[in-house]
Amino acid sequence: MNTRVRQVFQSFLLWELWKGLRVTGRHLFARKITVQYPEEKTPKSPRFRGLHALRRYPNGEERCIACKLCEAVCPAAAITIESEEREDGTRRTTRYDIDLFKCIYCGFCEEACPVDSIVETHIHEFHFENRGENVITKEQLLAIGDKYEAEIAAARNADAPYR
Ligand code: SF4
Ligand code: SF4
Repeated sequence: MNTRVRQVFQSFLLWELWKGLRVTGRHLFARKITVQYPEEKTPKSPRFRGLHALRRYPNGEERCIACKLCEAVCPAAAITIESEEREDGTRRTTRYDIDLFKCIYCGFCEEACPVDSIVETHIHEFHFENRGENVITKEQLLAIGDKYEAEIAAARNADAPYR
């Protein structure tokens, strides 16, 4: 049968439609792989890098020493730091912003930090409702760190990436 005749024949018999329905039928009774998000979650890699946090020491002192290594290493130029010297001679940031629209969640800031201050948490469910909220401030970052410190510290003590 030549090709043209076969095509006419197949089109008359709705061959493509039956082929498609065969795929549908095959998956109709197969095990479902969709999940009811957000009630159900899919597994997350232990190496997942999500929303950032700034950590404190157990005595409440912020870890960040304003060395600006994270700002320098950030390939997306997402971090903005301003700093000043305190009365006790130590240096601390007066501004630590991360533009989450610029951030590519590469983890370089976390790796560069000599005092384990800036970290990326497992949090991926966050959103913005107003213009400008994509720039997350030092106070917000510290608040996230305070909230998740137990988990962050546990993951680090286990010598594993933060889960
Ligand atoms: S995760 Fe990467 S892109 Fe995002 S702030 Fe850190 S260094 Fe910059
Ligand atoms: S977060 Fe770490 S790398 Fe960034 S300025 Fe502070 S101490 Fe330096």
